[in-house]
Amino acid sequence: MTTIIGNGVVITRDPTNPFIEQGAVAFTGPLITDVGPTATITSHYPKAEFIDAMGRIIMPGFINTHMHCYSTFARGIALPKQPQTTFGGVLANVWWKLDTLLTLDTVYHSAVAAFLDSIRNGVTSVIDHHASPHAIRGSLFRIADAAELVGIRCNCCYEISDRSGTQGTIDGIQENADFIRESHMRGDDMMGALMGMHAQMTLSSDTLRQVSKAGKELNTGFHIHVAEGYEDVADCVKNYNERPIERLNSYGILNDQSIAVHCVQITEQERTLLAQTGVAISNCPESNMSNAVGCSPILSLLDKGALVGVGTDGYGTDVTESLRCIHALCKHHMHDPSVAWNEPHHMLFRNNATIYNRTIQGSVGMLAPHNYADIILVDYHAPTLLTPSTVQSHMLFGIRGRDVTTVVVNGNIIMKDRCFVNIDEDCLLHEARQSALDVWRRI
Ligand SMILES: [Zn+2]
Repeated sequence: MTTIIGNGVVITRDPTNPFIEQGAVAFTGPLITDVGPTATITSHYPKAEFIDAMGRIIMPGFINTHMHCYSTFARGIALPKQPQTTFGGVLANVWWKLDTLLTLDTVYHSAVAAFLDSIRNGVTSVIDHHASPHAIRGSLFRIADAAELVGIRCNCCYEISDRSGTQGTIDGIQENADFIRESHMRGDDMMGALMGMHAQMTLSSDTLRQVSKAGKELNTGFHIHVAEGYEDVADCVKNYNERPIERLNSYGILNDQSIAVHCVQITEQERTLLAQTGVAISNCPESNMSNAVGCSPILSLLDKGALVGVGTDGYGTDVTESLRCIHALCKHHMHDPSVAWNEPHHMLFRNNATIYNRTIQGSVGMLAPHNYADIILVDYHAPTLLTPSTVQSHMLFGIRGRDVTTVVVNGNIIMKDRCFVNIDEDCLLHEARQSALDVWRRI
């Protein structure tokens, strides 16, 4: 059965065919079969189901390259009495308090809520980075259950650290390994996996050796926070007499299958090394600003040929907010209003797709034949001309995640006209609220 979404402005992200004013996308099963003018596409598939976009924008679903679904339960949480004045304090007194209270059930409900919110913001692929030190074994499988229920594309890992002691390290490696094998067996590209680690400052040399060995045996990439705050650098220099990028690289962690998140406090030499390794970098501007850790040298990294994408780090799920943040933050940081006009778009659209596609067999992030049918409809009423040359400006200053009305993932219609199709959102959010209360009561 073929479905056509047509009669809309199609922004394909395909360089050979980027913009169709009266366009349509046809898909059969999980894959896109055709993209072109509506009249042409409907003539090719006369018996297809037709979804009328009514002039709205048809574009690929957004991709979030670094997320913590469990952080959803921090929304409204009672914070420690003393305000945290350092990044280390934020970790110890907020995130490491929350994650130790998580059970397998609360992991599941927080992931359901995060995935529902992602879909509402047009995000169809999420790379999650998970921690629940008292509920490690089975946690990734519960996140996968949540992703399957909502119908979103997801990549999961458990962030191993020495915070959980020797047994926690063993459990973390085993959980990642089991989930990686499961995702390989599934082979449907809806559920991917990486070998996760927290950050080098919570990983001993022995742990890094074990994790590196396990990842290589499973032929998988790694997903780790890198030089997020000054604490990570100071720890590395003090204890190992080297910088974080150098230390991780010496264990073979940084490679063209891996994701290094943040990379804020990095030297010129580290930027060059990052580009040479081929590792992907996920930049999370709102999180960096909120934690007051600084601004990643994004433009310098891009100049050196590094693959830099965009993540939300659990700050929210709307990556269009991150787009705007990168645009403004780079200018602010460089004291130069002329910079960062094009780079944020390349990061969100081209680079995020490249990063996700390195984790799957097929392709997302582009409306073109043979790509996965991950498609969104955006109810955006342009106040000025929307043309191929003005799309970028409309994306930056106009279009928001909440303008998304319809979401298709892997050829399945998940949300239509702002209503979830096969799931009871109110009921699931009610369950999430009860689950969050269970966590909050134990703080
Ligand atoms: Zn993170």
